[in-house]
Amino acid sequence: MENVRVRFAPSPTGYLHVGGLRTALYNYLFARKNNGKFILRIEDTDRNRFVEGAVENLIDALKWCGLNYDEGPDIGGIFGPYIQSQRLSTYKEQARKLIADGKAYYCFCTPQRLEKLREEQQKQKLPQAKYDKHCLHLSKTQVQQKIAVGIPFVIRLNVLPNKKIIFDDVVRGRVEFESNNVDDQVLIKGDGYPTYHLANVVDDHLMQITHVIRGEEWLSSTPKHVLLYDAFEWERPVFAHLPLLLNPDRSKLSKRQGDVAVEDYRAKGFLKEALLNFVALLGWNAGDDKEFYYMNELIEKFSLERVNKSGAVFDLEKLNWLNEEHLRKKSNEEILSMLKTEICNSQFAILNFSDHYLLKVINAMRERVSFVHEFLTKSSYFFAAPKEYEETSRQKNWKPETSEQIQKLRANFAQLENPSKEDYELALKQTAAEFNISAGKLIHPLRLAISGTSAGPGIFDIAEILGKDEVLKRIDTALALLR
Ligand code: GLU
Repeated sequence: MENVRVRFAPSPTGYLHVGGLRTALYNYLFARKNNGKFILRIEDTDRNRFVEGAVENLIDALKWCGLNYDEGPDIGGIFGPYIQSQRLSTYKEQARKLIADGKAYYCFCTPQRLEKLREEQQKQKLPQAKYDKHCLHLSKTQVQQKIAVGIPFVIRLNVLPNKKIIFDDVVRGRVEFESNNVDDQVLIKGDGYPTYHLANVVDDHLMQITHVIRGEEWLSSTPKHVLLYDAFEWERPVFAHLPLLLNPDRSKLSKRQGDVAVEDYRAKGFLKEALLNFVALLGWNAGDDKEFYYMNELIEKFSLERVNKSGAVFDLEKLNWLNEEHLRKKSNEEILSMLKTEICNSQFAILNFSDHYLLKVINAMRERVSFVHEFLTKSSYFFAAPKEYEETSRQKNWKPETSEQIQKLRANFAQLENPSKEDYELALKQTAAEFNISAGKLIHPLRLAISGTSAGPGIFDIAEILGKDEVLKRIDTALALLR
């Protein structure tokens, strides 16, 4: 495909929604696959919905995911600026052109009149409220007079009745609307700002966007856009509307049933690779049942033709699974760097752990965690001596005779020089033989003493990683506390 240019055009309403991430990702994949350009454009013309810091949040989230754009507000590009509130004169100029061509008109109707009109239409049970073209017939002089005396106005598109509006959507196929159902939409609002529809179409044209890939919620706006392209006599882009994201109960994905912001998933420790992999599968598949993907494979396989029409269910379990899978595939060194960041942000930040030590912890734990932060929670004993001991294990494994046996085990451990896990094991077996008990009678209390828990990697591995001094110290503490 030649000269593909696509854009992600969010309205900065606070955070990047996972649905927005999916739109951004599909645009990105499509651009990369076709050697095209991926553009970020901020659609902030609805001043009522403006949220301080939202643009920064969006950019931050996209950057964290690695969805790098080729043109955008912070990096510029030949079609900039890429923030709509900085392009107001462009929209006015384009709207004036439509007026000059008789395709749009000034409307001076007061909010009161419009309200009355709406009420009347409701009484008549009309399917939807529509402007009655009252101002369409004002003469040029009347318009000029009204503007001259400062009567507020909007600019509306003159939608011709009884026309079929037809467009082809890559995902939805042929879509048809009746122009009778389309209002004479406002293009420039009373505050001089363009509406979403005008700004969106003008920018997509001026920025030479070839494919509009966006969520299904915009499908019903598309006839308005198509009318605008036709009014301007501009070539329409290709449209592809992505299926809705659904909760497991098939209602529309909502905050009430879980996190919807990318930053929430990031804060919970999900890997960006897993989140992108997961989001890629929300409405697309390569035609087989492969689910684990790296970005380069997604780029290679992605096509709009394989995007589904039906809603995509947001299945958190699958995301968890993918996170685990992606984490498993990382090298120890990659995990090391993430673990160090995790430590820096934790209660263990003041402690110093060598890379050598952390790599040993990673080796022992990597198959047992689904998130990097679980190194700190599931095996906190590698970072600090246990402060408490698991009660059920204490009751089950620390019998009246245990203290004496563990005391002996400690003495035997103390004899060892720079012990390996095999040395610990041998010493434990010998101690068990001395008491004529099974090794298990010592292993469980030993585990409780040095880790405080009853689960984890092999106890001799843990002992080797902690080192003899620490092991002896922890046994002493346990002997003092567990009687
Ligand atoms: N500003 C719209 C949004 O917030 C963009 C829709 C479109 O991509 O055309 O999603």
